[in-house]
Amino acid sequence: ENHEEKRDYVFKAVVIGDSAVGKTHLLSWFTKNKFCFDSKSTIGVEFQTRTVTIEGKVVTAQIWDTAGQERYRAVTSAYYRGAMGAMLLYDITKRPTFDHVARWLEELRAHADNSIVITLIGNKADLVDQRVVPTEDAVEFAENQGLFFSETSALSGDNVDRAFFRLLEEIY
Ligand code: GDP
Ligand code: MG
Repeated sequence: ENHEEKRDYVFKAVVIGDSAVGKTHLLSWFTKNKFCFDSKSTIGVEFQTRTVTIEGKVVTAQIWDTAGQERYRAVTSAYYRGAMGAMLLYDITKRPTFDHVARWLEELRAHADNSIVITLIGNKADLVDQRVVPTEDAVEFAENQGLFFSETSALSGDNVDRAFFRLLEEIY
C-alpha cells in the first residue's frame, strides 16, 4: 500500500532529553517496532517516519532525533522549527536525567511554537529494581507543567505506541 499517494498530513515531532535515556531506541521501536540492540549513539540520522491512520486521516509522523547533540544548548533551533510535538525523555534509573527535564522544557519553550504538544516520558520502566525516580514525582511535575506523561520501555515496547499515538492524536 502506497501511503505517499494519499497522505493527508505530515506532523513533525522531536525527541529530546539527556544522552543515553533511550531516545533513539524509543523512536526505533515506534518506527520499526523492534529493539535495536546494535545501535550506538546516534550519528547522522535526522529523522525517522511512520505513517499511521488517525481518525480516518493518513498521517506521516516525521520524528527528529538529536543525532548526539544532547549537550545543553547544543541542539540548534532548526531542530525545533515547525515541531508540533515533543517527546521529552528521562531515565527512571538516573535521577539527574529527571532533574534536567526543566532545562529541556526551557529549551523547547525558547525555540518551539507555543502550541507544541509535549509528552514527558519516563523510559526504561522495565528496570524496576533500579528505579530512583518515583512515578508520583513525574506525574506531579507533568501536571504542574501541563504535559502528558507516560512511562515506557524501549526494551519491551511497553506503552511506546500508546505514547506516540496519544501525542499524534493531540496534535491532530
Ligand atoms: P539516547 O542517547 O537517548 O538516544 O539513548 P539510546 O537509545 O542510544 O539508549 C541508550 C542505552 O540505553 C542503550 O544501551 C540502550 O540499549 C539502552 N536502553 C534504551 N531504552 C531502554 C529501555 O527502555 N530499557 C532498557 N533496559 N534499556 C534501554
Ligand atoms: Mg540517540
